[in-house]
Amino acid sequence: MFDYILSDEAKKHKERVRTFVRDEIPPSLLKQMDRNEIQYPTEYLQKLGEHNLICCRVPVEYGGRGLNWECEVVGLEEIGVLGSSLPCLYSLPIITGEAMSMFGSEYQKQNYLKPMCEGKKFTAEALTEPRGGSDFFGATCSAIKEGDHYILNGEKRFVVGGEGADFFLTYARTNTDPKADPKTALSLFIVDKTEGVSTEYLFGLLGTRGGGAARIKFSNVKVPKENLILGEGAGGKIFYQMMVPERLTTAAGGLGSARTCLHIATKYTTRRKAFGQEIKNFQGVSFKIADSITLLDAARSIVLNTARSIDAGAPPALQRRLVSESKKFSTKACWKVINNAMQVMGGIGYTTVYPIERILRDSRIGELWTGTTEIMNLIIQHEYYKEIITEKWLDRDVEQDALDSDAVEEKHYG
Ligand SMILES: Cc1cc2nc3c(=O)[nH]c(=O)nc-3n(C[C@H](O)[C@H](O)[C@H](O)COP(=O)(O)OP(=O)(O)OC[C@H]3O[C@@H](n4cnc5c(N)ncnc54)[C@H](O)[C@@H]3O)c2cc1C
Repeated sequence: MFDYILSDEAKKHKERVRTFVRDEIPPSLLKQMDRNEIQYPTEYLQKLGEHNLICCRVPVEYGGRGLNWECEVVGLEEIGVLGSSLPCLYSLPIITGEAMSMFGSEYQKQNYLKPMCEGKKFTAEALTEPRGGSDFFGATCSAIKEGDHYILNGEKRFVVGGEGADFFLTYARTNTDPKADPKTALSLFIVDKTEGVSTEYLFGLLGTRGGGAARIKFSNVKVPKENLILGEGAGGKIFYQMMVPERLTTAAGGLGSARTCLHIATKYTTRRKAFGQEIKNFQGVSFKIADSITLLDAARSIVLNTARSIDAGAPPALQRRLVSESKKFSTKACWKVINNAMQVMGGIGYTTVYPIERILRDSRIGELWTGTTEIMNLIIQHEYYKEIITEKWLDRDVEQDALDSDAVEEKHYG
């Protein structure tokens, strides 16, 4: 049904990415990454650049295609068929590109955004610290101004591309006064992989392997002042904007993973026999397929509607709520769909004969990274309470429809 409601541009983009995924990614790449034989698939990013598939929303002059969020999410679903590692590397430029294209200077766009979109420079996001990722404003990395540059010190953890990226979008504290308002104490820098930037540890992962998730250390790194994005203290403002691509990329990518598992499992149930008949004839099996397709369509609906609302100019607070809802709902739904796929395939679904087990391992990260499900809930309720408290009540006053609505003395609030 979704193809019927997509714009022509979105349909074209979906086909472009689908063709790329089908024709350009050899199974050997996924296998090597899953076996940890590759720690950063440089050629994949170069190929994406050659096909002009990096950051489709970035303006054409900076190497993108000038498309919208609707196109972005349908492209992400297609890339999501590959699991979560290659889609993560596809998503990182979308995330860091948001900061550079919305807030970056012309110098930053020419020297980082454009080569990144062309697949010539590789990016990473350095936000999480060993001390914690959820408490973003508690960041302790520091950047102290000295003449025409900043001196950066500190550590970041779980940085995908820690091994392989050319530059890191790094949040650091420019106001180190402990009493400073955290909302304006942080700044965002483009940090080249240069002297003083070291990869200290590469993490072994349940899934999502081959992206080089690392702890990186900044030791007296000289960052030119031209690499500060927007201005000192603007880190909080940029972070609120980067939440949108962070969460929507995870929400949309998961759809492809779940879809492909559901395809495999559904086909399997038409071939596999038990008790003398195809297992799809057992409602215990086919109803799991029914539940899965319902969940997947519901997840795709929330993702697409969120994308379209942003394209239509939804205000920033609403965007933050919608992307958080999308990520929470989609990652939970996709996890369930992938588990259902494994269940209807029986024991063989758990083996490495089929890719379900890898995609299941990969997809577990959805509820953890780019903000955990708990943090999504924190934002959803926060933004909704703000809306309810500040908005004028325009609906019918249904409280008056209660039989004893006039029993005002019984309406106690503690
Ligand atoms: C494979 C992988 C790749 C990653 N890639 C990147 C990357 O490229 N760049 C990057 O910067 N980061 C990256 N991350 C980090 C990821 O975004 C963080 O792990 C995540 O945001 C959670 O932070 P944390 O691990 O420090 O958990 P913590 O913040 O320590 O949270 C621990 C638990 O406490 C809960 N919690 C914390 N605060 C609250 C609260 N206020 N209310 C309710 N519950 C709360 C959390 O939900 C969680 O369950 C990656 C992580 C992994 C595993």
